[in-house]
Amino acid sequence: MAPVIALLPADRSATADHDYTRQYVADFVERWDELIDWEKRAAGEGSFFFDLLRQAGAWRVLDAATGSGFHGAQLHKAGFDVTACDGSATMVDRARRNFDRLGVDVPVHRCEWQALDARVLGRFDAVLCLGSSLCHLFDRDARIAVLKRFRQMLKPGGMLLIDQRNFEAILAGRFTSSGRYYYCGNSASITIGELDEAVCEFVYRFADGAQYRLRVCPIRPRHLQEELREAGFRTVSAYGDFKPIYDVMDVDFVIHKAHI
Ligand code: SAH
Repeated sequence: MAPVIALLPADRSATADHDYTRQYVADFVERWDELIDWEKRAAGEGSFFFDLLRQAGAWRVLDAATGSGFHGAQLHKAGFDVTACDGSATMVDRARRNFDRLGVDVPVHRCEWQALDARVLGRFDAVLCLGSSLCHLFDRDARIAVLKRFRQMLKPGGMLLIDQRNFEAILAGRFTSSGRYYYCGNSASITIGELDEAVCEFVYRFADGAQYRLRVCPIRPRHLQEELREAGFRTVSAYGDFKPIYDVMDVDFVIHKAHI
């Protein structure tokens, strides 16, 4: 009898969604910088993060979801004292190679957010969690626990800068990716696959046919602000695509600034 070959669909179980390390597979991570286009991303952001950090007098900075190291490298070049962390081994390896290539001396640690320890790394003037990274956590309590952990990594008066894709607009069916911010490369298109209140799937299609998916929790910006307050941050303000005044239905990313 001929063998039965089961054609299983790609693993889209909740378990797979919750394990972000499985989503950042080696060949996707190899192409992460192609997706970003560092030069265009730097031009799109301008001095936004540097200015916020300088205004806050923040020099010692933890880039807690460094990915391939974009902000770690930019901040180091701008004179900040940066430590980079990420929980994905493939991303950490990529960040190390990028720092070596650029000749920037930034320490990189592989570390789950929940395992961040101020006794090991010291405390920071600012913690950065950028690139919509927190949306990898689907559970509200788990996010609040991580935000509390970020708070514990801060010196008194410290600041957390945390951003996210604008799921308010995305859930209203208004996904745009202007290409001016964050993902500026032009060799991939980004579209939305599955979408509901529980999951948002981004489909990255590269010109050569390669396709990758990231499945994250579509946290609404106002909900993340509530979570920040619940985690003990006192003042929380937001920017849309780096501007303090914005239309929440008309921006790609929202950046939250939270102080303890
Ligand atoms: N900040 C980078 C990377 C964003 S991608 C950029 O903007 O380009 C999201 C990153 O968050 C990934 O590198 C992923 O490994 C990391 N991440 C997600 N959940 C994490 C967790 N629980 N602990 C540590 N890192 C995590």
